[in-house]
Parts: sequence; structure tokens; C-alpha cells
Amino acid sequence: MTQTPDKARPAPRAGILDIEAYVPGKSAAPAGVDRVYKLSANENPLGPSPKAIEAAREVAAKLDVYPDGTARRLREAIAEVHGLNPANIICSNGSDEILGLLAQTYLAPGDEAIITEHAFMVYKIYIQAAGGVPVTIKETDERADIDAILAAVTPRTKIVFLANPNNPTGTYVPFHEVRRLHAGLPKNVLLVLDAAYAEYVRRNDYEAGIELVGSAENAVMTRTFSKIGLGGARIGWMYAPAHIVDAINRIRGPFNVNATAIEAGIAAIRDRVHVERSVRHNETWLTWLSEQMIGLGLRVTPSVGNFILVHFPDDKKHSAAAADDYLTARGYILRRVSGYGFPNALRMSIGTEEANRGVIAALTTFLKS
Ligand SMILES: *Cc1c(COP(=O)(O)O)cnc(C)c1O
Repeated sequence: MTQTPDKARPAPRAGILDIEAYVPGKSAAPAGVDRVYKLSANENPLGPSPKAIEAAREVAAKLDVYPDGTARRLREAIAEVHGLNPANIICSNGSDEILGLLAQTYLAPGDEAIITEHAFMVYKIYIQAAGGVPVTIKETDERADIDAILAAVTPRTKIVFLANPNNPTGTYVPFHEVRRLHAGLPKNVLLVLDAAYAEYVRRNDYEAGIELVGSAENAVMTRTFSKIGLGGARIGWMYAPAHIVDAINRIRGPFNVNATAIEAGIAAIRDRVHVERSVRHNETWLTWLSEQMIGLGLRVTPSVGNFILVHFPDDKKHSAAAADDYLTARGYILRRVSGYGFPNALRMSIGTEEANRGVIAALTTFLKS
């Protein structure tokens, strides 16, 4: 908390240096490994839509021109695909940006924002950056506990962040439970439904939040193009009531979504074939990988996303850290998740068939060693 009063150089305002910076997963293997399988960032193993690649190429010749500051055509394409009013959509430089803007807009210093025990880590960073106080709620069976969240609401609570499904657990809250959460919140508390993995969820009792947002003044849904093939383009969006769109637009960077992102995004969201192919690939290999891991005696948190959380045995020789070293040396880059409260687990993105089979083969040998 304390900062040395220092007149000799600029000092960040109180609280900034208490923030623990986000540490992304590794993306490189040690020298000498010729084939690297990056399974640490939940990217699409099928890559970007070929139509998005083509669209990005075409923009290249016009990079001197500022993008449309409201990303109108991208909002219209999103609206068309999801059956929404484009006026209720804001696009952003990844959904991370919109999460940060929400915290800045709705939290005053000292206000509380609720997050769950194993929640996606950027929420905490943005809450603290806005001067807010993160209130972390225990999960039950690695899933958000709605009653516990409701019990933690105080007069200082301004936002509840719910990743549904959550990263890195991959668990989800069925929609009737999300409705119960919303119904139990005071009307001045904003419910942020982060549906970054919505495309991948194949469950009848799941809903990303479109219906709820359409009928409430205090709920928003955030989405991303990152997990479906455009992580590098940085495209996120939010569906929100008009009064929230209006407030966010006042502080949003005027050209926050770049020209390449706009064109690649429009092409990608219209390419339903690529989305469907990606989702089908995920369904097949999510099931296969979960079964194989369980067959190896490892516990897997049941996931509906495009990744699995794998828990390792207690013996030191076969710990998550040891497995990570073993896999990395063979070119398989998974995600350590100690910072998320899982010191003995690894998160693995669903990869190509070759990557998935390779990891299982390597782990089979590792666990016998
Ligand atoms: C990946 C992820 C995001 C954000 O990704 P962007 O690339 O910034 O759009 C948001 N929420 C969760 C839960 C995620 O896993």
C-alpha cells in the first residue's frame, strides 16, 4: 500500500503498484525442439477463417485511412448473425478492453466488485486499476456459487463479473441459475456476463446472456473473436442496454478497433462454415482428450469450452510442474495455472489432432516414469 513519497520522479497513483501484472502463457519451447504446439492460449487450432485472412490482406493497401470510429459495419454484421440491434453493441480492442472500460465507468474508489475464486484474472486487474476492491467468492466444485455471490453483495457492490463458461475451469452456470443471480441483485449492481467461449458451448441449459440483457437495465454480455480464430486481431464486443452503451462511448478510445480488425471481423463472423467446423472439431477432441486424461488416472474438470483443466497427482515426480517441464521439452506448451488457485493443474487448449494425440502419448510415458 505504501509508496515512498518521491518528488524526484513521477509516481503512479495509489494502488497501481499493488496490481499484479497479467502473465500470459508461454508460447515458446526450449532451443532444439523443432515442432512447437502452442496449447496455452485457447486459440482456434483450425486457425482464422480463410475469408478473414483475405479481408485483412485487402485492408493492407489502405492502412493510411482511419477506421470508422463506431465500427458500424462490424456491429451490423454481429447484429445480423445474432439477431440484435446494432445500436446496443460496442466493439473493442479484444473483450479485455471492454471489461476495463466497464470497471472504469462503474467503479468509484472503494467500490466493491465481485469475482469468483478461480475467475479469469483480468477482472481483478481492472477492478484495482479503477480503484475498486475485488471481493473474491469461493466456488463449489470449481463452479461459481450463486448463493455465495448473492450473500456477498453489500451497499458498496457495483459490479458482479461472471465468466460463463469460466476460464481456466471450463465450467458453466446454467441459465436458470444466471437468472436467479440477476433476480437477486439490487438494480444498481451491474452483472457482467463474460461469454468468451459461448460459441463452443453445446448445452441445452446454457445461454450466453442475450435474452437477459435484452430485458434488463443492469446486465451486459461481453464476447470475443479471439477463441474462434482471431486472437491476434483483437476484436471483442459487448451487448448492452442503451444507457450503458452511451456511458462507455464517452470514455472509449475514438478509434479503438483498428481497420484490419474491422474487416477481418466482418468476414469471420459471416463465415459460419468455419465457425461450425471449429466447433465440431472442438466437440470431438474435447470429449476424446477428457476421456484419455481420465484413462491416465488424471482428474479433469468437466469443460464446455475449448480447453480442459487437468489435475495432477500429489507425488512430486508427477506434479503439474514436472509434467509441464516434460511436455515443454517435447514442444507441447500448456498453461500453468497456479495464479488461478490451481498449483497442481495444467490448462490445455484443444489442439489439432496431431497435438492432442502427441500430448496424450507424452503424458502416458511421463506418468509411467
Ligand atoms: C480469453 C478471454 C477473454 C478475452 O479475450 P480477448 O482476446 O481480450 O477478447 C475474456 N474472458 C475470458 C474468460 C477469456 O478466457
